[in-house]
Amino acid sequence: MSSLSYVSVDDNSPWATYLAQVERVVPYLGELSRLADTLRHPKRAFIVDIPLEMDDGTIRHFEGFRVQHNLSRGPGKGGVRFHPDVNLEEVMALSAWMTVKCAVLNLPFGGAKGGIRVDPRELSVEELERLTRRYTSEIGIIIGPQQDIPAPDVGTNPQVMAWMMDTYSMNVGATTTGVVTGKPIHLGGSLGRASATGRGVFVTGRAAAGHIGLELMNSRVAVQGFGNVGSVAALLFAEAGARVLTIQDHSATLWNDRGIDIPALIAWQQQRGSIAGFPGADTIPSDEFWTQKYDILIPAALEGQITAERAKNLNCKLVLEGANGPTLPVADDIMRERNITVIPDVICNAGGVTVSYFEWVQDFSSFFWTEDEINARLDHIMEQAFDAVWQKAKSLGVTPRTAAFAVACERILFARKERGIYP
Ligand code: NAD
Repeated sequence: MSSLSYVSVDDNSPWATYLAQVERVVPYLGELSRLADTLRHPKRAFIVDIPLEMDDGTIRHFEGFRVQHNLSRGPGKGGVRFHPDVNLEEVMALSAWMTVKCAVLNLPFGGAKGGIRVDPRELSVEELERLTRRYTSEIGIIIGPQQDIPAPDVGTNPQVMAWMMDTYSMNVGATTTGVVTGKPIHLGGSLGRASATGRGVFVTGRAAAGHIGLELMNSRVAVQGFGNVGSVAALLFAEAGARVLTIQDHSATLWNDRGIDIPALIAWQQQRGSIAGFPGADTIPSDEFWTQKYDILIPAALEGQITAERAKNLNCKLVLEGANGPTLPVADDIMRERNITVIPDVICNAGGVTVSYFEWVQDFSSFFWTEDEINARLDHIMEQAFDAVWQKAKSLGVTPRTAAFAVACERILFARKERGIYP
C-alpha cells in the first residue's frame, strides 16, 4: 500500500485510508497528476523522546511526534493529540487530512499534526504540564507562527495550549500568541473556537440535507462521541428541531424515541465525565447504535468506525463526519451503492481550523472580533466551500469526498507547480 520504508502495511490504518482516498482523485487531476506523489510523501516527520520525571520520582519516556505533511500553501496547521494509541502512521494521516482540509476551505495553511503516546488521564496536572512543556521544547525547532501552528485535538485543551504558548515564548524570549490556536480567550484565544467544529458539522449538514430533500425539523439523528464536536453538533441539530434519538460515547449508548434532552445531557456529562447513567434515556447495547433507523448519522469520536459490516446495515440517508477518518474506504463504496450521502471530514469538521485561522489572524493584529462576527464569517466560508464541493461532485459524477479531494488537491498541486521544486 505504501512505498515509505518507515510505515507498516495495514489496509485499515488511517494512512492506508488516506492513500486510498488520494488514489480515487488522481484520475481527475489532469496534468497536475504528475505532481501527485507529493501527496503520498509527508514533507517532515519528526519523532522526539520525552523524558518525564513523575511525581513519585521515577522517570518515564514518552514518544512524541510532529508531522508536517505539506507546506506548499502556507505554514503547517494541525492539532496535538494526547492518546495512548498515537503512532507515527496515525499522525501522518491526520496531518495529510489537514493539508486537504485547509485547501478545501481555501485557508492559507499547509497540513500538520502532532501527538504524544500517553494516556493524559493517568497523569497529575503537574506531570501533564511538564510533559507538554518538554514536548513543546523538543518540537520548538519546527513550530512557530510562520512555520507550523499547533492546536488542540483529542486529549488536549486550552490549558495545554497555554502551556505550549508559554514554553515557546520563554524559549524565543517574547510572548508569541500566534504559535498555537485554541488558547484560553484572555491569552489570545478566539471567541467561538470551542464550538466551531460542531457548528461547522451543523452548517454543512444543513446544506447537505437541503440538497437531498431532507427536512431537519423532526429528522432523526444519531451521534457517536459526546465531546467537543459531538455535543455541540447534537445541540445545534436539536435547536433546529431535529430529534437526537441515540448518542454513544466510550461509556454507554443512549436511546430515547422522543429525542434526548441535549442541554440536560451536556450538564450530566460535565458533572460526571461521561453519558453513562443519564436518566432521560434508555441504555441499549453498543452494536445497536449502528442498526437503528435514523436519518442522519454523525460519527464524532474516533477513526475507522464505519466498517464494511456497519455500512451494509446502516439505516440512514446522510452521514456527517465530525471525526477525522471515521469511514473505511470499502465502507465508502458500500454507502455510495446504498445511496447514503457522506459529507467527508475534510469539509464537515473544518469549522475548528477555520476559527483557528481567525484566531491566528486576530493574534497578529492583537485586535479581537465579536462572536457574532466570527460565527457569520465561519458560516459564510463553510457554506461557500460546501457549495464548491457539491458542484464538483455533480460535475465529475463522484462522491462529495472525492470531490473535496479534487478541489483541494488541485489547489495544493497548483501551488506546488507555481512554486517549483527546489532546487
Ligand atoms: P473529545 O475528546 O472532546 O470527545 C471524544 C468523544 O468520543 C468522547 O465523548 C468520548 O467518550 C468518545 N469516544 C471515545 N472512544 C469512544 C468509543 N470507543 N466509542 C464511542 N465513543 C467514544 O474529542 P473531540 O475534540 O470532540 O474530537 C472528536 C473527533 O473529532 C476526533 O476524531 C477529532 O480528531 C475530530 N475533530 C475535532 C476537532 C475539534 O475542534 N475538537 C476538529 C476537527 C476534528
